[in-house]
Order: sequence, then C-alpha cells, then structure tokens
Amino acid sequence: MFPPLREELRGVEPYGAPQLDVPVQLNVNENPYPPSEAVVDDVARSVAEATRTLNRYPDREFVELRGALASYLGHGVCAEQVWAANGSNEIMLQLLQAFGGPGRTALSFAPTYSMYPEYARDSNTAWVQGRRESDFALDLEVARELVERVRPSVVLLPSPNNPTGTALPPEAVSLLCEAVGESGIVVVDEAYGEFRRAGVPSALEVLPQHRNLVVTRTMSKAFALAGARLGYLAAAPEICDAVRVVRLPYHLSAVTQAVALAALRHAPELLGKVDQLRVERDATVAWLREQGHQVADSDANFCLFGTFADRHAVWRGLLDHGVLIRETGPDGWLRVSIGTAEEMTSFKHALTAVTGTAGTEEGRA
Ligand SMILES: *Cc1c(COP(=O)(O)O)cnc(C)c1O
Repeated sequence: MFPPLREELRGVEPYGAPQLDVPVQLNVNENPYPPSEAVVDDVARSVAEATRTLNRYPDREFVELRGALASYLGHGVCAEQVWAANGSNEIMLQLLQAFGGPGRTALSFAPTYSMYPEYARDSNTAWVQGRRESDFALDLEVARELVERVRPSVVLLPSPNNPTGTALPPEAVSLLCEAVGESGIVVVDEAYGEFRRAGVPSALEVLPQHRNLVVTRTMSKAFALAGARLGYLAAAPEICDAVRVVRLPYHLSAVTQAVALAALRHAPELLGKVDQLRVERDATVAWLREQGHQVADSDANFCLFGTFADRHAVWRGLLDHGVLIRETGPDGWLRVSIGTAEEMTSFKHALTAVTGTAGTEEGRA
C-alpha cells in the first residue's frame, strides 16, 4: 500500500478543529485581544535586530529566554529549570520521546486533552486512560490505584483541564508524584494557568518538593501569542538535560526567541487582558447557569456546558448565527472559549435563539 505509512497511522485524520472563517470564533481558546501597538512595535524592532544575524544558527540553549521565562514564573524557578520549544505541544512530544517509548506507558484521566494519545502513538508509548469523577475532579484513591497498577513512565494532566476547566489541587499533584516515584514523571500542563480563579494554586508551588514533577506553560493563551509558537516547562535541571538529548538542533529559531523575549517585556499589559477575560468567564458561567444549563466550574478561558440530547444540532445552529464553538468533551457537552464582551453577547443571543427553538436540552422541566 502506498504511501508506506506505519500501520497505526493508516486512515488517521490529522488533529485539528475546523478553521472556519466566521465572525465570532470561540472554538480554540485563543486570546481574543490582538497584541497592542506597543507590543507590535517592540516585537517588530526585536525581529529586525535578530534578522541582522540570521546567517548564523540561533543560540541553541536560548540562555536569555530561559532566564526571562524563569523570572516570569517566579516561585524560585531558575534558568536551568526551564526548557522551551515551538509550543507546549512540542514540549510534550519531547517529553514523550525522552521518557516514553516502546515498553513504556503514558497515563491520563479522561476527559483530557485530545492531543496526549497522539504524542503517545507518535513515540510508540502505550496509552492508558483512567476516568475523572462526574464533577471532573480526580478521586485520589482511584488515581493512586491506577498509577500503582499501570506503573506509567509519564502521567499527563492538564490543570486547568481542557476541556472541563477543572484545576488540580496541589495535594493531588503531590500524591501522583509520590505514587509514580522515581520510575516516571508527572506532567502538569498549565496551558491555562494564568486564568485560574483567585486562591487556586499552581503546581509550581510544589515543584521544589518533587524532582519528577514537570509543569508546562505556553504563550499561546494568556500572552495572546498563539501564532508565535512558544511553549516551555519548569522542572528539575536533570529533566531539562534529558529533553536536550531528543530536541532537534537549533529547534527554537532566533526569530521565535526574539518575539518571546519582546512579549515577556510586556507581561503586565498582556496579563491585564487576562484579568478582563477571567471576569468575562465568570459572568459567562453565571449566565449559562441562569439559563438552566449545567456548567463545569472553570479556571480556564473557556467553559464546558450542556447537556444537550443533540449537541451537534446546537453547535450547527450557533454556526448558522455566525458563532463557532467546539463540539468536544463528554457526550452532550459543548465548549465555548471566552472572547470579548461583544463576542460573548453574540454567543448569548445565538444560544438563546438556538436552544429556544430547538428545545433539545435534557434535564429541563
Ligand atoms: C492550548 C493548549 C496547549 C497549548 O498548545 P501550544 O502548542 O503551546 O499552542 C497545551 N495544552 C492544552 C491542554 C491546551 O489546551
């Protein structure tokens, strides 16, 4: 059969949500605020400067960027504990390449990020999925038993979780790190970390206690830099050194490094928009509940709501009103990303129109 693709890849569709050109795009958890003129100017100047030396390979160890990311993270994290790549997706693939592989197992708890099984497949790592409880939290005893039975080399958990928005308490992170022990790593994917509600801690708080803990972050969401492709991790220096073995030479271009450094200089301004989105998120959760929908508590820039007997019909109806959301999560649920106030108004009007006429919702009198 041509092309002579690996058996397990035959007939597989490439991952990705539909990229449709509609007025209100609330389907891939992007930040709705484009970079300000001040950010645009600084990035453009930095890229121009980097261009002067593009005849040379970039700094393979991106020392300056690792330092800047470490200071941004705080929590006592230093440059030797930081590693970066082209999006946190590449970070996680590198982690699977270094710590997974034939004869090894990666573990997560569903519902979880749908890319994880793909990294496992691509690195020839076995894939096992446990379950979250009905409120999408982890039952720690059930999780511990599964870890002891499966003996995973890598545990992958988003916190806040995608697609549910659920944050993992630090006790859960510690318990998993201890259950996994020296024979594996625990990856807490904090792609939405900056959107946590007040008082919800980051896994960075327990990083000093666990040398098998890896916390990943991205500039795609909070920093409104999805197009730049910059993800990073914080972990023990031995873990960063292990990842360096599998990375491609000069994987992080000089242009990417310049863009990320420039954006980090504007962190306070960019994070101000995050606060606006958190307020809008809480208002959206409250509004959906007032309409009688079930909504998962969210610490992210999206919320999962439902349940609908025919969620595809609701998704389609919203699209007909120019509003694109995501058909994902457990049966009957839909996920909406938090956009600007105007976009959320369009979403609310469209949902009212669609559910008012479709009347497809379950569990409503
Ligand atoms: C969006 C997202 C990421 C970020 O991916 P990038 O490659 O950094 O753009 C990572 N993990 C989860 C769970 C996400 O939803």
